[in-house]
Amino acid sequence: MFRRARRILRGIPAPAAPQALRHAHQLMERGRYADALLTFYDLAQKAEERFPERAPILYAEAGRAAILSGDSKKGVFCFRSALTLLGSQQRYQRLQQLGGRIVMELRERGLHAEAEEVESVLRNNLPAAAQKEAKPSSYHQVILPTHCPSCGAAVRREDVEWVDALTAECDYCGSPIRAES
Ligand SMILES: [Zn+2]
Repeated sequence: MFRRARRILRGIPAPAAPQALRHAHQLMERGRYADALLTFYDLAQKAEERFPERAPILYAEAGRAAILSGDSKKGVFCFRSALTLLGSQQRYQRLQQLGGRIVMELRERGLHAEAEEVESVLRNNLPAAAQKEAKPSSYHQVILPTHCPSCGAAVRREDVEWVDALTAECDYCGSPIRAES
């Protein structure tokens, strides 16, 4: 039944980003990381039931908020949820992109033990074949807005899923983000 509902929903524009998601991004921007952690974590848990494809990035952002708030243990816990979910959804390219970015950010902060833990989660969730053909993601020349017009998430061009040559999809809310002309 769930599957069928998803199929019917596909093709219909994503609903406007929930207030809570916009609020969570604002908390991050204002440096209220502990509050952002709770909000993103709550959103991630709800997404797991209703929009499972959105849950990983929400867990990853909860993890980032945890790291920024100084709770690296909780951070790694959230990153683990994000990457394990991507693995179970067989979204291996996304898994590599997101995992790679998390590891890089942890190393930049000098959190090497945490980075190694995330690397091992990454390895355990990637099939051997995907690890071998690790190639850089395609590079798009178009310019995307810096923030999602719907939910206010920061847009990382090298880190989004592309719908077509000029349109990416917001990881957080699923809204289309069109390139600026
Ligand atoms: Zn968005």
